[in-house]
Amino acid sequence: MKMRKTKEPLLLHEVTIESAAAEGKAVAHSEGMVIFVPFVVPGDVVDIAVYKRKKNYAEGRAVALLKPSPLRVEAQCPHFGTCGGCKWQTTNYTAQLQAKEQQVKDTLERLGHVRTDSMRPICGADATFYYRNKLEFTFSTREWRDTPPSDTEEHPRCGALGFHAPTVFDKVIDIRHCALQHTLSNNIRNEVRQYAQQHGLAFYDIRNHSGYLRNLVVRNTEAGEWMVIVVVAEPDTTALFPLLEHLKNQFPQISSLQYIVNTKLNDSYSDLDVVLYHGTSCITEHMEGYDGAPALSYSINPKSFYQTNSRQARKLYSFVAEMAELQSSDTLYDLYTGTGTIALFLAHMCKKVVGVEYVEEAVADARLNAQLNHIDNATFVAGDMAQVLTDSFVQTHGRPDIVVTDPPRAGMHAKVIEQLLQCSPRKIIYVSCNPATQARDLELLGERYDVQRLQPVDMFPHTQHVENVAELVLRNQ
Ligand code: SAH
Repeated sequence: MKMRKTKEPLLLHEVTIESAAAEGKAVAHSEGMVIFVPFVVPGDVVDIAVYKRKKNYAEGRAVALLKPSPLRVEAQCPHFGTCGGCKWQTTNYTAQLQAKEQQVKDTLERLGHVRTDSMRPICGADATFYYRNKLEFTFSTREWRDTPPSDTEEHPRCGALGFHAPTVFDKVIDIRHCALQHTLSNNIRNEVRQYAQQHGLAFYDIRNHSGYLRNLVVRNTEAGEWMVIVVVAEPDTTALFPLLEHLKNQFPQISSLQYIVNTKLNDSYSDLDVVLYHGTSCITEHMEGYDGAPALSYSINPKSFYQTNSRQARKLYSFVAEMAELQSSDTLYDLYTGTGTIALFLAHMCKKVVGVEYVEEAVADARLNAQLNHIDNATFVAGDMAQVLTDSFVQTHGRPDIVVTDPPRAGMHAKVIEQLLQCSPRKIIYVSCNPATQARDLELLGERYDVQRLQPVDMFPHTQHVENVAELVLRNQ
């Protein structure tokens, strides 16, 4: 391995990429440095330009692919290399799954001292593209590009509509085709852009807080219902309504067309009113029931959380159901229940289920969804888990026989773990989107619980994200 120093950046030659690392990057070693590189495949031999050097590591970019890895496949997406969304897509899917499985194994063993001999093979996705049911796009006057604009472009560009560029807060990649959501999503987004450009609708400028069009949200269900939400910066709808009318006429598939006026400095709309322009305010996702139970309907409003990969969510929940081995006399707690999807999926298998979640609107959705499915043994409680899950809560709702827990990336609060150890359900089924915090929590729960089945699930092909389900069984019951 040779190293040649140029003024800027430092160039490293013939470096072999070793393995997957954090944030979808890969890791390599050269000249005593640990280097993190995006958009490469383990086994690639590349030249790397190092643009950031810290004491313990460096960050670089591959500038030449000298020898492609045997694991390499063609990128499916035209924005690969610019967009940070699907960084693993040039690694074949089998190798992606192996890397995720290994990551779960290593993390649980290293950080949680959990034995993983009985871990099952990761459950891969049947559809590795076009699997998302929700995408949020941003309008920006500033486009992020790797290459300079060509002179021959049809329309003079007035900005970009797409995803935020990684690490540049005000720039957006102009997405022409995204392989994550059904084709209609691409058609809708591209039509909105074209209409806006032809009719002179100004894209938002996040630096000066000027312009009109801010965000576009596209959601769909497995059965083909579509929700489109346009977010604008001013209450004046004179320019918006013709755009919405155009979308309504162009895309009869849109069953819920809504808009939001956001005059705030930030893009979040959870605290804003959503106004219905056409169709219904909700779309409904249907999920096959477990073990012959009737299909479930989940009503999704513009602010509802719903697992973004519907088909993999069904598989994930089925693993939970299988591991929980509920009895009809059981009291079940579903912690971090969101809109109650797991609770309602399992309700027919137990005496009663109690879901806890701190987003009030999500709890309202969960109650609504219980009604919609004629489920009358589910109760939902709103509040912060560490505050809610007390002795008196357990007294009120009954000691749980089984607990399902699905915390956010940070894992469970120490108080929650303490309470679980104290009320000692027969089993805890722990669903996690972050093996590191799951490992920490499993070790703490190890005081009274043995880890039995482990089931990693791939909810997000081509990304570094992995979900893992762990079954914990109470010792000396
Ligand atoms: N189990 C659900 C959602 C899991 S996402 C599903 O499968 O759809 C995790 C959920 O935990 C989110 O809905 C989030 O709002 C909630 N949450 C995060 N921190 C919390 C806390 N401290 N107390 C209660 N709920 C919390």
